[in-house]
Amino acid sequence: MNDRATRAIALISVHGDPAVEIGREEAGGQNVYVRQVGEALARQGWHVDMFTRASSSQQPKIVEHGDRCRTVRLTAGPEKFIPRQDIFDYGAQFVNSFLEFQTREKLNYFLIHTNYWISGWVGLQLRQQLAIPQIHTYHSLGAVKYQTETEIPKIGATRLKIERDCLERADCIIATSPQEKEHMRSLVSQLGNIEVIPCGTDIRRFYTIGQTEGRSHLGIPKNAKVIFYIGRFDRRKGIETLVRAIGKSSWKDDDRLQLIIGGGSRPGESDGLERERIEAIVVELKLEAKTFFPGRISDLELPLYYAAADVCVVPSHYEPFGLVAIESMASGTPVVASNVGGLQYTIVDGETGLLAPAKDVRAFAIAIDRLLNNSKLRDTLGKNARKRVEEKFSWEGVATQLEQLYLKLINQTAFN
Ligand code: UDP
Repeated sequence: MNDRATRAIALISVHGDPAVEIGREEAGGQNVYVRQVGEALARQGWHVDMFTRASSSQQPKIVEHGDRCRTVRLTAGPEKFIPRQDIFDYGAQFVNSFLEFQTREKLNYFLIHTNYWISGWVGLQLRQQLAIPQIHTYHSLGAVKYQTETEIPKIGATRLKIERDCLERADCIIATSPQEKEHMRSLVSQLGNIEVIPCGTDIRRFYTIGQTEGRSHLGIPKNAKVIFYIGRFDRRKGIETLVRAIGKSSWKDDDRLQLIIGGGSRPGESDGLERERIEAIVVELKLEAKTFFPGRISDLELPLYYAAADVCVVPSHYEPFGLVAIESMASGTPVVASNVGGLQYTIVDGETGLLAPAKDVRAFAIAIDRLLNNSKLRDTLGKNARKRVEEKFSWEGVATQLEQLYLKLINQTAFN
């Protein structure tokens, strides 16, 4: 039997296209996770097809990422950007397109790994029809998200039901942190299998240059004090907390201070409103001269920014994992983060970074000042952070853990 016959898997990410540029519109951690997991598994010998919804007629339908890994864009709804809360309407069409593709290409997958609840539903249908195991990663749990929302969207009840179905019926759920597992048990269901396998990062990509070099590439003065945020412009990312904390920092009026807020789209795209809101707060606090919005940061430039920063801030209201934190840690740059979800797992408070209560402007200001005022502490935490990522959060290590789980489930199915 050839390799494809025994080691072909489908990763399904209906709304998070693994082949697009990260940072714009809704593209973030899920896109990175699917792409990195796919490529790492392909390096370990698996044939990986990553299925997503075609969101533009200009995009190629198949994108190859090396010998054994590709993105396949299926037709499900109009070929244009659709916000994720509206995509579920096209779930059934996605299932049909998947089955048609499989028949047309004469392919057999031995396992499906689904991402986010919409793909989870698609996976439950395919699992039943094809009698193959399904693994699911939530990336975000409605039950956690809706706890802090005043208005639950119309799709909310459907999402909660499907998240519960996934936990109870999929063959295994991957929690990316022990905190996420705890939330699944306390808020979703006591039934179903859960394994904790974290997200990872490419440890060879970061820590290759020092702060001075990073700054010289980016035109940042050597003596600057640089605070860095990178991520989607979404209210739950807590960028407001960061900006207001800078407004309270003892460095606020120092000319050396630079606040860099990276990520986000062009004006007029779906996350533009949050960016405008943040820009207005920057003006309100008179921080315009010190604040920079470089927009989406490319893969090539991202390591330069992390290296150039004194501190990276992850002020999210909630994170099931939080890739930015481990990327910064891999770069040897300490993180000040909210004391929530997966950030409590990746960051050991006082050893590899500092934690502050979510939305607590004063606590963030104190933690940021602590690091800006003490370069020795900054260096120690940065070095410890790098070590922790090397030991626990490399993509290769993550892919090995996933591989073991896949093999176990495939074998169980074969002997049933
Ligand atoms: N990212 C990027 N460029 C940008 C904005 C974000 O490469 O301009 C990447 C970032 O480096 C990280 C991911 O997008 O890998 C965001 O993942 P995270 O888990 O922090 O947040 P999520 O988007 O899942 O909420």
